[in-house]
Amino acid sequence: MSRLNPRQQEAVNYVGGPLLVLAGAGSGKTSVITRKIAYLVQQCGIRAQHIVAVTFTNKAAREMKERVGTLLRGSEGKGLTVSTFHNLGLNIIRKEHARLGYKPGFSIFDESDIKALLTDIMQKEYAGDDGVDEIKNYIGNWKNDLILPDEALAKARNPKEQTAAVVYLHYQRTLKAYNAVDFDDLILLPVKLFQDNPDILEKWQHRVRYMLVDEYQDTNASQYLLVKLLVQHRAQFTVVGDDDQSIYAWRGARPENLMQLKEDFPSLKVVMLEQNYRSTSRILKCANILIANNPHVFEKQLWSEMGVGDPIRVIRCRNEDAEAERIAMEILTLHLRTQRPYSEFAILYRGNHQAKLMELKLQHHQIPYRLSGGTSFFGRQEVKDLMSYFRLLVNPDDDNAFLRVINVPRREIGSTTLEKLGNYATERGISMYAACDEMGLTEHLDSRFTDRLQRFKRFMDTVRQQCAQNDPIAALRSMVMDIDYENWIRQNASSDKVADFRMGNVWFLVDALKNTLERDEEGGMTIEEAIAKLVLRDMLERQQEEEEGADGVQMMTLHASKGLEFPYVFIMGVEEDILPHRSSIEADTIEEERRLAYVGITRARQNLAMTFAAKRKQYGEIIDCSPSRFLEELPQEDLEWEGMEDAPVEVKAARGNTALADIRAMLKKS
Ligand code: ATP
Ligand code: MG
Repeated sequence: MSRLNPRQQEAVNYVGGPLLVLAGAGSGKTSVITRKIAYLVQQCGIRAQHIVAVTFTNKAAREMKERVGTLLRGSEGKGLTVSTFHNLGLNIIRKEHARLGYKPGFSIFDESDIKALLTDIMQKEYAGDDGVDEIKNYIGNWKNDLILPDEALAKARNPKEQTAAVVYLHYQRTLKAYNAVDFDDLILLPVKLFQDNPDILEKWQHRVRYMLVDEYQDTNASQYLLVKLLVQHRAQFTVVGDDDQSIYAWRGARPENLMQLKEDFPSLKVVMLEQNYRSTSRILKCANILIANNPHVFEKQLWSEMGVGDPIRVIRCRNEDAEAERIAMEILTLHLRTQRPYSEFAILYRGNHQAKLMELKLQHHQIPYRLSGGTSFFGRQEVKDLMSYFRLLVNPDDDNAFLRVINVPRREIGSTTLEKLGNYATERGISMYAACDEMGLTEHLDSRFTDRLQRFKRFMDTVRQQCAQNDPIAALRSMVMDIDYENWIRQNASSDKVADFRMGNVWFLVDALKNTLERDEEGGMTIEEAIAKLVLRDMLERQQEEEEGADGVQMMTLHASKGLEFPYVFIMGVEEDILPHRSSIEADTIEEERRLAYVGITRARQNLAMTFAAKRKQYGEIIDCSPSRFLEELPQEDLEWEGMEDAPVEVKAARGNTALADIRAMLKKS
């Protein structure tokens, strides 16, 4: 284990009050958190169950847990909480669901559930679902700012906001009726609960004696309030962050949050770290010079002793295909030459859509890879089907899940039947599932149809009983067999191979559930809780990592790469309209894009390459691309440009650090 420098040591040892560690990338902020957890347990005698550390992604939480695990001995770490904000919120709701008015098996709605529900509401209320995405954004922003429907309605300034607020009201009511919460509720509900119930807050404040937050710059208003409430009493916490790495403004995070802390906790001590232990000086210089173009709340200097290092390569490729091919070949060659495992290589990109072509190239060259974040796993039909079965089992109020599975596989229950069932359920104020075997339903529906509905309900009731009595995993396995799901998949798949793959996903999901139950450290996790956890994906990602083996090139978005580091980094699509993203250029939020580029560059330890395409296909049309303005901002003496032989003059000009923007403006005029 490396020795901490004096500043880091100071941050670890300071327990006299609130502490902010403010420092640039790779300066050991996360290391301070892990070391401090061990210090708190071993030197300060705080039991691990009273310590809560919050990180940004599941992956970061897993890594942190592992790192802390190596520092603690025996049972010292028992009961330690290292989780994401959402997981922390889920744990609070799990324990306090009764006070919040939720039943135990509550469902967690993901993006697609939310969208389906909103579409449904809009069709009912406004006879159309135009602008559903926009409304979803409004609702998300309100929730992040802790604004409830009534308040949103009162504050709405124009017709659009009014519509959104009305939909929000219906949406929240429907969620409650379904015994369901969405992702934002995982933070919002605990905060409201604490605000309204001082007794519960006090209980939790007692439980959390020390709190640590990583990537603090990206917490939004509701997350901050959750932290604030939990630590209010003792003011014993350490948060670490870097305003230059704030990249979640679109989710309500602001670099200024860092200032807020000083106002809320006047006794806040601030420690700055300046030595970077991750990257070569060249990489660091590039990062420093790039970010100097942004205005700064805090001035920071970063230096490193990792040697000058290789020049940073900027590679111009003919088109997007050549770009992906080039990166694949580079990695293959470097891997063979250096004998470094593939996992030391990372490919970073602005948007998930850029990954597809890259994946194909890696597959073509038989280079193993791992795609993290943005996994389409939960979007797959079979996964959604099975998750809906799980949800309906533990939460019979979940009409969304009911509608998803009632005819999968086919049960000959038509849309008219479902409509009548729905109307009857609404009239009675009960769920569709509960309405299936109510006597009153027979007045509205022919017995042929009520029989089918009842049969389905009886079947699900039996599975639920089996889950409660015996081995729940075995019960779920036989449920999959009993509904003959495999046959259904085979009938609907284009080939046997596809069907096999889909069934593989089904069993993968069941196994993930099994692992979640088995690895529950506190013990006593119910199947309801395990299913809720599954939606947060943590165990799935972990299982995926394990099954796919350790070695593989890491592919992820720049956003997902936060906090991580790799010896070799490729950033692709470093072009105008991609990085910076077109929407940011239009909205004039270039600074956030620059921070994103800064995050990407500072992931690299030894070697960094950035690529861009001269042309690419967009909406079926071939367009000319310009290198990103960020490339111009870098120190040209540390860059090595490639593929510039046939580049047009204005692109060539960029490498001389001439004002490309001027040339661009000139070309535009002519
Ligand atoms: P980021 O801003 O990207 O999240 P960070 O500030 O959290 O970065 P860490 O990830 O904690 O930085 O540390 C970066 C690297 O430096 C890690 O590999 C870590 O092990 C190493 N490191 C941190 N402190 C020291 C030290 N005192 N001596 C040697 N190596 C160190
Ligand atoms: Mg970190």
